[in-house]
Amino acid sequence: IQAQIMWAASVAIFIYSVNAPLRVAIMQLLCMIHLFGLFTLRPRQLLFTGGSTILMLLVMLAVMLHLKPANFIVDQEIFKILFACFIIGLLTWMSILHSLARGNLSKKKKELAQAVAQVNELVTRDALTGLYNRKHMQELLERERIRQAHTGQPFCVALIDLDHFKHVNDSYGHQVGDEVLCSFAKTAELTLRETDTIARWGGEEFLVLMPETTLEPYAQVAIDRMRNMVRELAPSATVPTLRFSFSAGLAAHIDGHTADQSIARADHALYAAKHAGRNCTMLATAANNPDSACAA
Ligand code: GH3
Ligand code: MG
Ligand code: MG
Repeated sequence: IQAQIMWAASVAIFIYSVNAPLRVAIMQLLCMIHLFGLFTLRPRQLLFTGGSTILMLLVMLAVMLHLKPANFIVDQEIFKILFACFIIGLLTWMSILHSLARGNLSKKKKELAQAVAQVNELVTRDALTGLYNRKHMQELLERERIRQAHTGQPFCVALIDLDHFKHVNDSYGHQVGDEVLCSFAKTAELTLRETDTIARWGGEEFLVLMPETTLEPYAQVAIDRMRNMVRELAPSATVPTLRFSFSAGLAAHIDGHTADQSIARADHALYAAKHAGRNCTMLATAANNPDSACAA
C-alpha cells in the first residue's frame, strides 16, 4: 500500500505540473490517495509517504518557479501547493495518531488474550504438579460419559493413591513429599497415551481417564506400565535412596451409570488394593466387588 500511495502521488504530481485544467482535481486526488494509508500503514510508513509527497510537491513548485511555464500563475500556485502540503501534513499526523491507537489496541488485545489463557490455566490446573485439577477432570469425565452414551465407546477410570505417603512427609519433610508428587505427575503423564488424561484428584490421589479403552487388558496394562516406571524413580535429590509406589483401583464405565458411580467403583477397588498389601491394581467388577488382580 505504501508503494501504491507513493506511485500514485508521483503520477498525480507529474500530471499537476503538465496539465493545468486538471490541477484542482489532482489536488483533491492527492489527499484522497493518502487516506488509503490511514487504516493500514504503521507510523513510520505514514511519515515516509506523507513527508515524501510534501517534498515532491515542494520540488515540483521549485522546478515550476524556475521554468515559469505560461499557464503557471505564481501567486495562486504557491498558495495552492503550500495549502496542499498543509492538508497532507495534517492527514499524515491524524493517520499516525490513528495508527498508534490501533497498535495500542492490538497490544491490549494480546495482553487480554494472555490474561485469559493464564486465568484458564489457574482454573483448570493444579498449582503444584501442573496436572489438571479435580474440577476440570469432572468436566472431562462428564463429557466422556455423554460421548459414551452416544457412541457406546468404552472408557475406564483409574483412581491412584501413593502408598505410605504420610510416612514420606513425616520422615523427610513436606518439601520431599512435594517432590514425590511432582515426580509422579511427570512420569505418569509420560507413560500414558496422548488420549488419556491424568488429574490430581486431591492430596496424593490421582485420577486417570482412559477413553476408548477396555478394562482388560488395555487399561490394566497402562497402569502396570506406569507402576513399573514409578518404582524406578528417584524423586528427590536430597534423599537419593527414596523410592515409592502406588495402589490403583480401575473401573470400566458402565452404560447408564453416572461418572460419580464409576469413580466410586474405582475407589472401592482402590480400597481393596490397599487392603491387599498396596503397590497393586484392583479391577472393579460391575457388582462393585473388585477382582483380585494384585501384582505386588
Ligand atoms: P496409604 O498407603 O494408606 O495411602 O497411606 P498414606 O500415608 O499415603 O495415606 P494418608 O491419607 O494417611 O496420607 C496422605 C498424606 O498426604 C497426608 C497429607 O499430609 C499428605 N499430602 C496431601 N497433600 C499434600 C501435598 O500437596 N504435599 C505434601 N507434601 N503432602 C501432601
Ligand atoms: Mg489418600
Ligand atoms: Mg496414600
